[in-house]
Amino acid sequence: MALTGLQIQKLLPKTNCKECGSNTCMAFAMKIAAKKAEIAECPYASEEAIQVLGAASEPPVRGIALGPDRMLKLGEETVLYRHEKTFFHQTAIAVNINDTDSSGMIEETLTAVLDYRLERVGEIFRIDMVAVTQRGSDVNGFAALAVKAWKTTGRPLVLRSESPGTLNAAAAAVKGSRSVLAAATPETLGELRISAEKNDHVLAVTAPDLDSLFRCASHLRETGFHDILLQFQTSSLTEQFQTNSAIRRAALKDAVKPLGYPFLRFLRHTDDLLEMAAGAIAEIDKYGGICVLPVFDPALMATLMTLRLNIYTDPQKPIQVEPRVYPIGEPRPDSPVFVTTNFSLTYFTVSGEIENSGTSGWLVVPDCEGMSVLTAWAAGKFSGASIAKFVKEVGLENQVSTRELVIPGYVAQISGELEENLPGWKVLVGPQDAADIESFIKMQKAKSKVQNVKE
Ligand code: SF4
Repeated sequence: MALTGLQIQKLLPKTNCKECGSNTCMAFAMKIAAKKAEIAECPYASEEAIQVLGAASEPPVRGIALGPDRMLKLGEETVLYRHEKTFFHQTAIAVNINDTDSSGMIEETLTAVLDYRLERVGEIFRIDMVAVTQRGSDVNGFAALAVKAWKTTGRPLVLRSESPGTLNAAAAAVKGSRSVLAAATPETLGELRISAEKNDHVLAVTAPDLDSLFRCASHLRETGFHDILLQFQTSSLTEQFQTNSAIRRAALKDAVKPLGYPFLRFLRHTDDLLEMAAGAIAEIDKYGGICVLPVFDPALMATLMTLRLNIYTDPQKPIQVEPRVYPIGEPRPDSPVFVTTNFSLTYFTVSGEIENSGTSGWLVVPDCEGMSVLTAWAAGKFSGASIAKFVKEVGLENQVSTRELVIPGYVAQISGELEENLPGWKVLVGPQDAADIESFIKMQKAKSKVQNVKE
């Protein structure tokens, strides 16, 4: 649990020597409490202070890294609700194959995992993991399937078997993939811990009740092993929701360290896609670490990835696109030029509407720190002066022959300032809503025809 500045100050030498860069030990303690300094910066800190502060700074939910490059991260969460700060690592989504599936079905699923990509607000999302479940009795066949899944997709695996011998063989066969062994029970804990450690994998632990699970995780911690996932045995959606919430609360609010690990959940196979979706949604909503889907379904996958994006987006960091001039369609030098902000949702809405209108154009996107049009304008980030400065910096007048800029209707008031700062350019006030861009373009074309006839 986090210590207060006063509690930290009591652990410091209190000599106010200033060698840490702070005027007093109290000021240094306040910096540590605010996570702006570390105890290592005080050369006179006692062993006790280093130990206590080190333990206090350990994240309440331990971070787990998966994959050969350890790029898939789980855990390290510090809050129960996203608005309190942010969530750090999103729920990993895995798709399951069974060793008893037909070879055609296995190929189809692995290809789907490999090829699946979903684009949302400029980011590409892919399936994170493959789970391999033992249903048959062929130990070597299971290990060979695990190797095939790893080599085909390049994803870390969740190896699932009730037999420690099968898991040991597969763990050795995919050494280097940094996968998950699922799951150790109170009876197989010792044997599977050795296998996980030897082959550099993560070990999921499971038990019929929470007390036993707590004891298993405590035992692993006492042996110095921390690459742990918790797999709860629940019998209903309600229980799943309650268990996940209660355990995460215990880890975050009561500093119950043996429960401070990411979760692993296998969803039950059912023909009812909505039931599967409900289980997966509950897991993503309520702190899931890895959620294993029994089958691949593209509609379900798109739903879950979109939900996950919404939940795990940092509310303090707006999603933004790179500030630059974007060609929409195949614009020519005399194609119309639109201006908007670099908030991703705004950019994709405006560019989509220009595209839908069947007209090619240029979209000028200055840096507005990821804010939407009105917010950026209110914050002084989308003014006539700032847009003009950006237009000059990117050399727009060398790129296009038109000298007209279309600005969003909501900021009609900046048109005069923009024209003043961009001599030779005419500013047109576009529609307030992106949905009206198509009719705006049609109207401009009609006006231009009339003008040509008059001339
Ligand atoms: Fe206090 Fe240590 Fe900083 Fe000196 S270096 S002021 S003893 S915290």
